[in-house]
Amino acid sequence: MSLLLSNFATPNREKNVERLLDDTQIERFLGMIDEAKRIVICAHVNPDGDAIGSSLALKHWLARRGKEAQVVVPNMFPDFLQWMPGAQDIRVYFKHEEEVRPVLEAADLFLVADMNEPGRLREMETDFMANDVSRIMIDHHLNPGDFCQMVISHPEMCATCEVLCHLLWQMGEAERLTPEEATCLYAGMMCDTGAFTYASGRAVIYECISMLLSRGIDKDRIYRKVFYTASLARLRLQGYLLYVKLRVIRERHTSIMTLTNVERQRFKVKNGDTEGMVNMPLVIHKMRLSIFLTEDTEQPGLIKVSLRSVDNFPCNKMAAEFFEGGGHLNASGGRVHGTMEDALQVVDRAIEAYAKWLA
Ligand code: 5GP
Ligand code: MN
Repeated sequence: MSLLLSNFATPNREKNVERLLDDTQIERFLGMIDEAKRIVICAHVNPDGDAIGSSLALKHWLARRGKEAQVVVPNMFPDFLQWMPGAQDIRVYFKHEEEVRPVLEAADLFLVADMNEPGRLREMETDFMANDVSRIMIDHHLNPGDFCQMVISHPEMCATCEVLCHLLWQMGEAERLTPEEATCLYAGMMCDTGAFTYASGRAVIYECISMLLSRGIDKDRIYRKVFYTASLARLRLQGYLLYVKLRVIRERHTSIMTLTNVERQRFKVKNGDTEGMVNMPLVIHKMRLSIFLTEDTEQPGLIKVSLRSVDNFPCNKMAAEFFEGGGHLNASGGRVHGTMEDALQVVDRAIEAYAKWLA
């Protein structure tokens, strides 16, 4: 017993570091960063907490290294991420193309965070790819694409923020992280795991959390800011979706919800206000798959598809096969070009094709 206690009393921070890069790779990584003068950090379209968290953590860490970097995302991120330290300086490409294009053109190094394919930049892809400078990917999605000179990809990790945690830790930064950096890293991990309720069973995640706590994060406040904050509009929409729109196909253990732009206007909600709602039906007994279709507010004729599942139902396979998308086993996304009716027909076909999985 006393041995156990003394183990706890003297945590060896170095012991649990997952070495993601060998010394030569670290040298190359830091060399690329130190040589660059205009670093641009990019993350995926519809940026989530991990995309924003990892981008901002990188920006703060670079600032501490004496490097100013810009964070550029393809479109707006939800209100419940606006509190994150540095969020006010993020450049949004959509509707500001003329201002942001020169930033992409001038970059002499891209850090690609939480993103495995340039297609995930949507309309920003062309301007991003047009600048042929070095790119470093830091990510946790499966199947990293071949568009970066350096790829730090760990699909076994719960979030890009976890990858960054290990990387910074390995570089001896664990004792130097600022509360801002630590807050961004924690928020990203928390968002991608539903506050550590899924994809979060690896013990080392909690080593990371322990390290971040020691750097001064207020984890309860971060939780409240992200998961326990909603506009009245969002709450009302939630009620409407559950009461009016939710359709359950019992024999397939599947639920479907749809949201049109007319409904969005009625409830005065923006794109990000629907974040997380796709998860709600999964609390129903025996539900395995939840499908949420939303008309895109920015591109007419585009239906955004969100898939969430429990257990081993492969959302990513269904998303790739039917919805031009992909993602993780239990959380994926994609799209249908057409009307909501068109999208519902594709959904019907997808459910039938996966009937065996949904029995
Ligand atoms: P969401 O439903 O929140 O839009 O997406 C859930 C997850 O699926 C995202 O975190 C992302 O990893 C993945 N995802 C969403 N859309 C796409 C897509 O078009 N392609 C790929 N490869 N992954 C996607
Ligand atoms: Mn992520």
